[in-house]
Amino acid sequence: MKHVKYAQCVRCGKRYDAAPDLTNCSCGGILDVVYDYDYIKSVLTKEVLAGRKERSMWRYRELLPVEETTPDTPLRVGWSPLYEEPGLAAQLGLSRLWVKDDGQNPTASLKDRASAMAVAKAMEAGAKTIACSSTGNAASSLAGNAAAAGLKTYIFVPDRAPKGKVAQLMVFGANVISVKGNYEETFKMSAEAIERYGWYNRNAAINPYLSEGKKTVALEIAEQLDWKMPDYLAISVGDGCTIAGVWKGLKDLYAIGFIDKLPRLISAQSTGCCPLNRAILQGTDWEPMEENTIADSISVGVPRNADKALAAIRESRGLAVCVTDEEILAAACLLGRTCGVFGEPAGVAGTAALKKACEDGLIERGATAVSVVTGNGLKDVANAIRAGGEPLHIAPDLSEMVKGFAARGVTVE
Ligand SMILES: *Cc1c(COP(=O)(O)O)cnc(C)c1O
Ligand SMILES: [Zn+2]
Repeated sequence: MKHVKYAQCVRCGKRYDAAPDLTNCSCGGILDVVYDYDYIKSVLTKEVLAGRKERSMWRYRELLPVEETTPDTPLRVGWSPLYEEPGLAAQLGLSRLWVKDDGQNPTASLKDRASAMAVAKAMEAGAKTIACSSTGNAASSLAGNAAAAGLKTYIFVPDRAPKGKVAQLMVFGANVISVKGNYEETFKMSAEAIERYGWYNRNAAINPYLSEGKKTVALEIAEQLDWKMPDYLAISVGDGCTIAGVWKGLKDLYAIGFIDKLPRLISAQSTGCCPLNRAILQGTDWEPMEENTIADSISVGVPRNADKALAAIRESRGLAVCVTDEEILAAACLLGRTCGVFGEPAGVAGTAALKKACEDGLIERGATAVSVVTGNGLKDVANAIRAGGEPLHIAPDLSEMVKGFAARGVTVE
């Protein structure tokens, strides 16, 4: 990889050759991939990109840690739509607002970006089996992307994982272990099995390549905005790999001169589980927290990528905004009803936080923002029904329909 220099520990600074099966530093710190920006600048220009037909995350190959000869992974991951939403912007007091719908990835979440990267690196490593533990989406995305590439998977999920996500795993043919325990216990068990059987490790924040895949969401947003960056970028945070990846992508683009401004990050967590936001708000290091929220994908009491996530939020002069489950459900309806975008609870938490930040005056009126919806609403139908409510249940009779709607304050006309 001519464009990659090495991987470096974010804690102790130790450097490693960028082998495909890298995991954490011997000190326990997380590694970060370091690029040769001068080389990248010499081969990648905005014009080169504009002329490229590839409509997937692999259009940014020069900024991704894969060998030049590694083939694109089979599923179309990335290049999700970025919608401008003037109606919602006006409601929130923003001058412009865009919603990036990453629930439109092949397995319906942003995690596909990391899993496609994991599949590419597993192929480079010559591995036949990949394993991970996950609150749900990392699992289903790995299962789908691996199935398409002909790789076997072992997947560990906590038994609270929503049925839709587990159903995806089974249909994609993964070997699924539903662990009677929380995410922390599930994670530990997967680590033990990976160690014992030598599987390729797709665990977030252990494998340094995964957030490089996730950063492609930021590369796309920048390109879709013609390299004019917004004031704020809101995204939900669990382990912290996504927000760290977003920041990495933005800094890459800044380093090669594609953008001249870095947005401030809005880190969205649930009040029921917000160890990283609590650390930001209190100006301290993070402490473990209970996992108590309907937003299962960000219900992470012991975040695995705290170092990189906290650094990203702080460096960007970001905002930490916690939202309640009620605010998350309300944001699901707001996005559905004003934008036609359907997100799962963790998927819409960024929008809920953006709304709250506007209402609380944390964001100046007239600012510009992008909100990333990280997962599709069909993943978690039970909570979608809680958010959206029940339809009119009646006999096949028009007068009952009119009466029923009248009771809801709706005039049929
Ligand atoms: C995993 C996930 C997140 C959070 O990503 P982290 O890297 O764990 O911080 C947010 N939303 C959805 C839908 C997810 O699946
Ligand atoms: Zn180290």
